[in-house]
Amino acid sequence: MKLKHIEHIGIAVNNIQESIKFYEEVLGLKCYAVEEVKDQKVKTAFFMIGQTKIELLESTDPEGPIGKFIEKKGEGVHHIAYAVEGIENALAIMEEKGIKLIDTKPRKGAEGLDIAFLHPKSTGGVLTELCEKKD
Ligand code: ZN
Repeated sequence: MKLKHIEHIGIAVNNIQESIKFYEEVLGLKCYAVEEVKDQKVKTAFFMIGQTKIELLESTDPEGPIGKFIEKKGEGVHHIAYAVEGIENALAIMEEKGIKLIDTKPRKGAEGLDIAFLHPKSTGGVLTELCEKKD
């Protein structure tokens, strides 16, 4: 298993249009995609910085994972995603090491990536995502 770089940092926001303004007008980044991921009940907006993306997440349903997160904790950093080679193998290794998995198998995330989450109980409180670009 090899982690390559931080693929993205996921940030939960109340209003994606308002937050895009901060990243564009204050930080000077460019939003290059806005995409709804129905499966996760979120709207996402992406910015590229080096090899890493910032992924803004606005809930489209209060019962969805981001809706619940914001209700509990408010806006803020939601997860860190690592680009990995061989995501299935990586999940098997994690499981072997006793890490609690949210996704035992990869599923489709934004931008067509295969993604899987590790449970924050096993990762020191940081919701951790593994992802792999397959083409
Ligand atoms: Zn993510």
